[in-house]
Amino acid sequence: MAKLIQAIRGMNDILPEQTPYWQYVENVFRQLMQSYGYQEIRMPIVENTALFKRSIGEVTDIVEKEMYTFEDRNGDSLTLRPEGTACCVRAAMQHGLLHNQTQRLWYTGPMFRHERPQKGRYRQFHQFGVETFGLAGPDIDAELILMSNRLWHLLDMNEDVTLELNSLGSAEARQQYRGELVKYFEAHQSELDEDSQRRLHTNPLRILDSKNPDMQKLNDNAPKLIDHLDAESKQDFEILCKILDEAGVKYKINPRLVRGLDYYSKTVFEWVSDKLGAQGTVCAGGRFDGLVEQLGGKATPAIGFALGLERLISLLEIPEKIQRENNLDVYLVLVGEKALSKGMPLAEKWRNEIPGLKLQVNCGGGSIKSQMKKADKSEAKVAFILGDDELDKNMLTIKYLREKKEQEVIELDSIAGYLKSNV
Ligand code: ATP
Ligand code: MG
Repeated sequence: MAKLIQAIRGMNDILPEQTPYWQYVENVFRQLMQSYGYQEIRMPIVENTALFKRSIGEVTDIVEKEMYTFEDRNGDSLTLRPEGTACCVRAAMQHGLLHNQTQRLWYTGPMFRHERPQKGRYRQFHQFGVETFGLAGPDIDAELILMSNRLWHLLDMNEDVTLELNSLGSAEARQQYRGELVKYFEAHQSELDEDSQRRLHTNPLRILDSKNPDMQKLNDNAPKLIDHLDAESKQDFEILCKILDEAGVKYKINPRLVRGLDYYSKTVFEWVSDKLGAQGTVCAGGRFDGLVEQLGGKATPAIGFALGLERLISLLEIPEKIQRENNLDVYLVLVGEKALSKGMPLAEKWRNEIPGLKLQVNCGGGSIKSQMKKADKSEAKVAFILGDDELDKNMLTIKYLREKKEQEVIELDSIAGYLKSNV
């Protein structure tokens, strides 16, 4: 026998048993976005490689070692998107969405990064993302955090996540701080691990983000970005904290939170969970006021966040009520030749009459016993049994599959009424 072809490592099938979780979260998120007046945008999955190099930064983990980049048949360098922000900015600029207007946008879809697959870290994963343009904050910064906070409550997982906040300051303030940081790490060069040595002159802020426990103490004593903020960033950060205090949203200021991408400035935040092992960040966001200009547009303030669906779903329990909503109402059992030809048209008629009816018709024939077995397995509430005898009398039998209740025989003409009051 030929060898079976398997999915690519780190790229997962989402099986029918799992999809109700995805649909549930997608619905909650879509409604949440509507309730804040955000509009959906859909971008292609493949973009020019230059877009990510220019936005995320040449010396970031993503661009250095995680992108799926290939030449297409024309010899152009293309990349499977590793994240959505750069794509969203590209689309908004290309279609004039940033000209004299503000935007509040959201998107969802797969992202691709060639990382080492492990729990919570995949090569194809999914994000929900939100990006706003033309709003300088800190009010909109607060809105994004309140909105993500509301999502945890809606999904009943607010106990599972905590908020970490920091401000990276303006690009100029960060440049100055960067100098101090390099001086500090140079004075402790022998204590730096290999990654940090490499980052010292390319991306020293990222050293602070190191997950290596041996780097912890050195990082703890490093000069803090938050002590080097420019006046405007400092004031905005204070207002943001005040709004969160007023709204009763708890947070921890984490001076080492720098985010892995180059384009961030001022407010950055992460929602983290201690229930996810090493891959603890569920949602991450921040301000990227410089990105539009960096990509050739007019300077435009912007802030967004992205959350990882796989990590979110692994924390999620679907309420039983919602689980049951997906189950069938009716499984239609057809016994005999006449029933076989009448069954499908009848099912169509009932679907017309009862919007939202969830009804499955037995296909492939079989004895009444084997069809009833399938009915039971389908988790439908009731089985409708249509046999030739019943048809002659214009009747069918209703059998209850989930409750102790005598079966009933009712007229075909009364079925719509029955369904209206019972499903
Ligand atoms: P990490 O530090 O975990 O690598 P990141 O900073 O690279 O995260 P972002 O680019 O900010 O992640 O992406 C936002 C969110 O997307 C993350 O918080 C996480 O929930 C999710 N995410 C990122 N990379 C992956 C991945 N490889 N597999 C699954 N989810 C991911
Ligand atoms: Mg990463």
